[in-house]
Amino acid sequence: MAFLSLLLVAAGETSSLGLPLWALEWIGQGLLGAWLFALGACVGSFLNVVVYRLPQGMDLAHPGSHCPNCGHAIRARDNLPLLGWLLLGGRCRDCRARISPRYYYVELCCALLFVLVAIFEGIIATDGLRLGVRLSYPSISPFQPFPFWTAYAAHVVLLVTLLAAALIQGDGFAVPVKLFFPATLLGLAGPLVWPEIRPLPAWPGLSLVTWQAGIVDGAAGLAAGLAIGAVVGSLEKLVAPARRWPDFAPVATWCAVGSILGWQPTLVLAPLVLLLVAGARTFGWLAGVKRQVPLAAVALPLAAWVLTGQATPLRAALHWLADYPVLGCAVLFGILALASGWAAVLTSRRDDPGPHAADNRPIDPQPLASPAVSQSELSTIDPPTT
Ligand SMILES: [Zn+2]
Repeated sequence: MAFLSLLLVAAGETSSLGLPLWALEWIGQGLLGAWLFALGACVGSFLNVVVYRLPQGMDLAHPGSHCPNCGHAIRARDNLPLLGWLLLGGRCRDCRARISPRYYYVELCCALLFVLVAIFEGIIATDGLRLGVRLSYPSISPFQPFPFWTAYAAHVVLLVTLLAAALIQGDGFAVPVKLFFPATLLGLAGPLVWPEIRPLPAWPGLSLVTWQAGIVDGAAGLAAGLAIGAVVGSLEKLVAPARRWPDFAPVATWCAVGSILGWQPTLVLAPLVLLLVAGARTFGWLAGVKRQVPLAAVALPLAAWVLTGQATPLRAALHWLADYPVLGCAVLFGILALASGWAAVLTSRRDDPGPHAADNRPIDPQPLASPAVSQSELSTIDPPTT
């Protein structure tokens, strides 16, 4: 709303100045980009809270942000995303304890993500994965604001969720399954408003009313995610039965990805992700690196690649899957099983103290200013987890 009013004011002022239409368009896009950047930074600030508190079972809203070193509450002006950390020079205002720069980089990453997804999906969209089917629906376009922003919201929520999962896993914690609920629900319910949030329809030949197609596509994606997650999760369990905790994170991860990407891109991406994870873990094992590559950290860029319509090299695989669905599924699940089995073997070889080892957290040995979020911020953003 603030953005719209700003845009109207700007448009009114500039048209009275006699600016040409292209200049107005540039100004509008610039303002929109700035607004998305700010929104992304706020979401990033909230994500810092989620990443820090959720795996430890802490309340996301209470207590308010405070410095764990001196206990002082963080002032509202120091709590501004991006600016707060910069203005403080990365130190607590009261006790000068160091605040990890990771908080700043997560906010910056989310801000850039919000802008880049809008640029790629709105301006550079190539219709990359569309196989020329479902012609009755128009492509996602910024000229149809409602469908565009529905799809955009689902896509950034998935990417932000994967970022949070990667950070939590990287910190050595088990990813709480509820982290994936918002993205999965959005993938399932979003298409009731606008079905074309996914790059491909579940079955091209099927003629369904739009909202029915949305439900079928979502259910098929979810089923693919469940199957992939079951393969990855059960192989981990099989290879490392000593693990005490039941790890549902792979299932939840792939359900969220499946419900938003649809079943075909998910089924093509999953073996690719697991091959990369297995490769990275092999490299880490040979190099003697203790840290593991989080699954979500590999899935994140690949999901972004598909969602922003740039994954044209996947076209051949998708065509092949459409032509030979049974053989395609068998081959892809075979590769998935081999890759995830190998990744699980390497994981079990590590002296992995498990996800509940709090001292595993790699961030500063110095106490951090607790990642902060203000009440006003909580109410203005669309939090990836609720
Ligand atoms: Zn302090």
